[in-house]
Amino acid sequence: MPYPNYDIASLIKSQAASLGFDACGFAAVEPVDDEAVARYDRWLEQGRNGCMQWAAGHRDLRRDPAMLLEGARTVISLALNYYPARFQPPGTLRVAYYAYGRDYHEVLREKLTELSHFIEQITHCATRPCVDSAPIRERYWAQRAGLGFVGRNNCLMLPGKGSFFFLGEIVTTAQLTPDEPCFGTCGDCGKCVTACPAGALSEQGAVDASRCLSCLLIENHADELPAWVGEVIGDRVVGCDECQLCCPHNAHAVATTVEDFAPTEAVMTLTRERIEAMTAGEFKRTFAHSAISRLRYKTLRRNAALIADED
Ligand code: SF4
Ligand code: SF4
Repeated sequence: MPYPNYDIASLIKSQAASLGFDACGFAAVEPVDDEAVARYDRWLEQGRNGCMQWAAGHRDLRRDPAMLLEGARTVISLALNYYPARFQPPGTLRVAYYAYGRDYHEVLREKLTELSHFIEQITHCATRPCVDSAPIRERYWAQRAGLGFVGRNNCLMLPGKGSFFFLGEIVTTAQLTPDEPCFGTCGDCGKCVTACPAGALSEQGAVDASRCLSCLLIENHADELPAWVGEVIGDRVVGCDECQLCCPHNAHAVATTVEDFAPTEAVMTLTRERIEAMTAGEFKRTFAHSAISRLRYKTLRRNAALIADED
């Protein structure tokens, strides 16, 4: 190794912090352990991935990050706070916090790319930044890298900070001393299981995506949703935060300082009337750089109509 490892690790972590990341940890690249693979396979076999068909693909890549980058030695896990400083006013249809501001894929990609370049410069090693869409088990690696533990609501809980964090990874050929994994648990708490309006969570910590509103309202583009969705949708038009809002770990969530995640004007004024009057072209322009663009025009209107039906 041509460099003192501890210095490199500190440099990477301080650069991550200066880019705004709230947590950064390292895990050694190796295949995902058998238990985690079996749990994931069982979830798929039971059809609990619902409309998330992509979850069944790239099995090999998901199993072993070494397949994402030749010679990979370390997964660097990073977390970025998106808990809002301002919230939607009464009368607007509810948007999940993660979709309040600029599309997190764009924001994270920019930050990860910058950090990747930095790592390449100081280590002369290869890197591959991964944002959401890459087939990597994000929460698994974040837990291994010591960032937090996976709660019953299936979110990564950062001890003392909560779960309103985007996750990103950089797979690198640099060998960095792994951090201690995080072994926290939810203990006896089951608040999210009770709070879930759709009954999508189990005590064992499995989410049934075929019932999860976050999945149904965002990734399911069918013309119609099952009738029961209208009974539990409330005023949620984009996603659902219920199992995070009720979590004691989020009781003291601190607002993000990332300006890009501040709610856009479109989100702050998103009423049913506004959606009904919106043309396809307007939708495209308004949400061009928002995660809401992934919903599609038709799906946003379908969701809004479901809320209208409930009134
Ligand atoms: S996002 Fe909403 S519907 Fe999905 S598991 Fe959490 S509380 Fe339930
Ligand atoms: S609400 Fe309770 S059970 Fe659910 S994730 Fe938070 S701590 Fe865990």
